Amino acid sequence: MSADCLFCRIIAGEIPATRVHEDDQVLVIRDIGPKAPTHVLLLSKAHIASAADLTDEDGPMLGRLFGVAAEVARAEGLDGGWRLVSNVGPDAGQSVPHLHVHLLGGRAMGWPPG
Ligand SMILES: [Zn+2]
Repeated sequence: MSADCLFCRIIAGEIPATRVHEDDQVLVIRDIGPKAPTHVLLLSKAHIASAADLTDEDGPMLGRLFGVAAEVARAEGLDGGWRLVSNVGPDAGQSVPHLHVHLLGGRAMGWPPG
C-alpha cells in the first residue's frame, strides 16, 4: 500500500469506486471515464508501478487477473470479443502509476484504441 497512490487508496476503501469483482489478489472497478460500453480496470492489489515492474513471482497474480478478465467479459455479455490494454509510462497514457489493465468491450473497436 502506498498512501499517496489513488488505486491503493481505492483498494483500501478510502476512496469510493464501483466494484465489479474482488478477491485476495485482484480488484475490478468501473472506469469513471468509460471509452466503451464496458470499460473496467483490473488492478493488482499489491502496489506494482506498471507492467515494466513485473517479475516471475507475479505470475500467479497475472493468471488470476486474466481469468477474472474472462469472467467479467462473460458476465458483461461481451460475446463478440473484448480488449485488454495496459499502458506503461506517461507517454503511453498511464495516468496512475499502479499496475492496471483496461478491459474494453461492447462495440467493434479498430486499432489503435481511440
Ligand atoms: Zn498503488
